[in-house]
Amino acid sequence: MSQARAVPAVGIDLGTTFSVVAYLDDLGRPTTLNNAEGDKITPSVVFFEGTDVVVGKEAAKAIVTDAESIAECTKRDLGHRMFHKSLGGRQYPPEALEAFILNKLREDAKRTIGEFSKVVVTVPAYFDEVRRKATQDAGYMAGFEVMDIINEPTAAAVAFGFQQGFLKQGQDAGEKKRVLVYDLGGGTFDVTVMEIGGRDFVALATDGDVQLGGRDFDERLVDFVAEEFIRKHGIDPREEPNSHGRLWRDCEDAKRTLSARTKVNIACDYKGEAVRIEVTREQFHEMTQDLLDRTAFTTRQTLQAAGLNWEQVDRVLMVGGSTRMPGVYEMLKNLSGKEPDCSISPDEAVAQGAALHAGILLDRYAGKSPNFRIRNVNSHSLGVVATDAKTKRPRNAILIPRNTPLPVAAKRVFKTQKAGQRSILVQIVEGESASPDDCSQIGKCSVRDLPPDLPAQTPIEVCFRYHDNGRLAIQVTVEGANAELHHEVSRENSLTQDQLDSWRSYISGMPPASIRDSADFDFGPDPSLTTQPAQTRVWNPTPEGDLS
Ligand code: ADP
Ligand code: MG
Repeated sequence: MSQARAVPAVGIDLGTTFSVVAYLDDLGRPTTLNNAEGDKITPSVVFFEGTDVVVGKEAAKAIVTDAESIAECTKRDLGHRMFHKSLGGRQYPPEALEAFILNKLREDAKRTIGEFSKVVVTVPAYFDEVRRKATQDAGYMAGFEVMDIINEPTAAAVAFGFQQGFLKQGQDAGEKKRVLVYDLGGGTFDVTVMEIGGRDFVALATDGDVQLGGRDFDERLVDFVAEEFIRKHGIDPREEPNSHGRLWRDCEDAKRTLSARTKVNIACDYKGEAVRIEVTREQFHEMTQDLLDRTAFTTRQTLQAAGLNWEQVDRVLMVGGSTRMPGVYEMLKNLSGKEPDCSISPDEAVAQGAALHAGILLDRYAGKSPNFRIRNVNSHSLGVVATDAKTKRPRNAILIPRNTPLPVAAKRVFKTQKAGQRSILVQIVEGESASPDDCSQIGKCSVRDLPPDLPAQTPIEVCFRYHDNGRLAIQVTVEGANAELHHEVSRENSLTQDQLDSWRSYISGMPPASIRDSADFDFGPDPSLTTQPAQTRVWNPTPEGDLS
């Protein structure tokens, strides 16, 4: 593909339970990097020991001795103001904990490829806008310049495309291939239908569950053993954090054994009492059947949203460590009527696809034409809260429905409620429900200092521009107000620039950098955008203060 690069192309799969770093070698081949412990995958675990911050395998070990000082599955908390438990007496924003993990990955990768700062970080396709921003912020705090974020299933499909030779110079793969990517990791589940045609990677539909993964399968075993313990000895080994941690570790291990063998013994001792239980693969299937069923349901729905049936799908790609469970293979085989494809590494494909994407971006910066193109869809509908003219109740007025090809710009016209209204509040929400309460709140955009004499029913045009990485820019235009309107998006649970800078210096020792959230305010012309036809249904926007 290309010769040695001055700046390495690095992709990071920042997983809920494990993280992976890959780069493009001198021949342009994606290659997974070993961490300082010599492993390709790094547990996404942070352990606070006094003033020391330990990340990875050593941190994971401390789950049996210092469970209370350990942050696990931080990715599940992204979008919240603070991580769900305090660590060493201190509260941390989840993105700062993610930054500690990224910082270790950076330090370790540096040993092989030298200093670097530009990276692509992956996110579950089903991540909403708030979680995407939090991921970018984590990268910044870890001392990186995050060139882009890319959806994990898309990255896996790119790695698959590379492996299949689709990306070779001069080769045109000819006919289009449709690939369903089923990604079951430790904490999240994602499914995406992609069409790979020549060097175009086009997502057709995507869906998922950010609260479903291998951890939930572990938990079923943990509960099974704990209940047996209670039945026998009347005490619960989950009540004490370290004993809970030990049980969890042993059950995760047993789960892995059940992928290779048909039965396993799990031993648990607590307060001088003990149980030893044999669990068969069949029993494990039974106790986790509903979890697999949920993924099957979502997979079916996504295929439907893509407008395809199973005959039209060429490959079913399995990604994520949890696809090693034999039950997943069986379920997908029954569902699709074809043998699932296990040709890409379930652990490495995502990071490697991200590295390929990083290579494209660096080439583009250097003025070279890109080797392949990625087209995404949005995973959640985006709208604003407006008052329904008929019912007078707040409603989610959707501007961009889910599964719309990105990038996209969409406009919708609203009207002011009162004469002389001096301010309007645009509340941005993400979700499918008509009720704003059931949607995720992205932020608010206040437009103040409207001209004093605007009549009621003055048209307000709200324009969303959704970038192909799932980040959002917003513009509000008021007819008759020709002065430039000052508005800014204030986010619900986001750190300020000063906070980000001080975390960055604390975690990575890097000075502040000027590349900041371009998605929020940059509203320059973008020739690659398609504009959706403006919707003309009339909703009254909420005057500021009218709604809590
Ligand atoms: P994430 O990207 O969400 O961190 P990964 O794709 O790295 O997740 O997958 C990690 C999950 O895969 C963990 O829940 C782990 O227990 C599970 N896993 C890994 N290997 C096996 C195996 N052999 N059998 C069953 N589960 C496995
Ligand atoms: Mg993953």
